[in-house]
Amino acid sequence: MQSLGKIRIIIALLIAGVSALMYFTNTSVNPVTGEKQHVSLTPQQEIAMGLQSAPSMAKEFGGLSQNAKATALVKQVGAKLVAKTVAATSPYKFNFHLLADPRTINAFALPGGQIFITEALLGKLRTEGELAGVLGHEIGHVIERHSAEHMAKSRAIQGGAASVAVLTGESQSAQTAAAMIQMRYGRKDELESDKWGMKLGAEAGYDPRAMMGVMEVLAQASKGARQPEMMSSHPLPESRIIAAKEIIAKTYPNGVPSGLIK
Ligand SMILES: [Zn+2]
Repeated sequence: MQSLGKIRIIIALLIAGVSALMYFTNTSVNPVTGEKQHVSLTPQQEIAMGLQSAPSMAKEFGGLSQNAKATALVKQVGAKLVAKTVAATSPYKFNFHLLADPRTINAFALPGGQIFITEALLGKLRTEGELAGVLGHEIGHVIERHSAEHMAKSRAIQGGAASVAVLTGESQSAQTAAAMIQMRYGRKDELESDKWGMKLGAEAGYDPRAMMGVMEVLAQASKGARQPEMMSSHPLPESRIIAAKEIIAKTYPNGVPSGLIK
C-alpha cells in the first residue's frame, strides 16, 4: 500500500507538471492589444472554429430571423463598429446575425468573429446606441480571444484536477474547484468586454452611456432568477453599471462630447 501511495504522488505531480508546462509555454501576442496571452490557437483556427459551429449555434436559438429590416439594422450597426474602429485592424472576419428566438434574451460571440443577438434581446433595446453597446461588447470577446483563452485554461485546469483526483482518489471536489476558477475568469472577461463595447461604440460615433441602458435591460431581464454574484459567470448588472460609469468618467474627464448617437 505504501509504495502504491508513492506512485500515486509521482503520477499526480507528473500530470500537474505537464499540464502547467503546456499552459505556460503556450503564449502568443494578441494582434490587437499587444498583450501576451496563454492561447494555443492561431487566429485562423479561431475563425475556422467559429464558422464551423455558427450554423448549429444559430439552430439552438430558432435559426436566423425572418425579419429582414431588423436583420439589416444589426448588420449595419455591426459593420460600422468594425469599419470605424481598431477592430478593422484585427485578423478576424466579423459577421453579425439576428436570431429568431423571441424568448431567450441573449447575445454571444463565437471565436473568430461570428456574432449573434436574439430577437428577444433586440426587442428590449430602446436605441441604436444600446444595440451598438451589445454588439461592441461581443466584438470585445473576439478581440480579447476569451474563448481561446478559456480553452487553454480549461485544458490546464483539467490536468490539475486530474492530478488531485489521482492523489486523493476522488474527483468531485477537484472538479468543483476547477469549475469555480473558470467562473471567476468569466466575470473578468465580461467587464473587459463592457469596456470594449463603450470604446468601439464611441469610436464609431455612439454615446458610450448607452451601455448603461443595456445594463438596465439586463437587470430587468434577470429579475427573479438571480444568482449570487460570486457564483455567477456574469457580474450583476448593478456592479457593471458602476464599472461603466468609472470608465466613462476616466475617458471623458470633461464630460461626454455632445452629438453622439444615443
Ligand atoms: Zn459577454
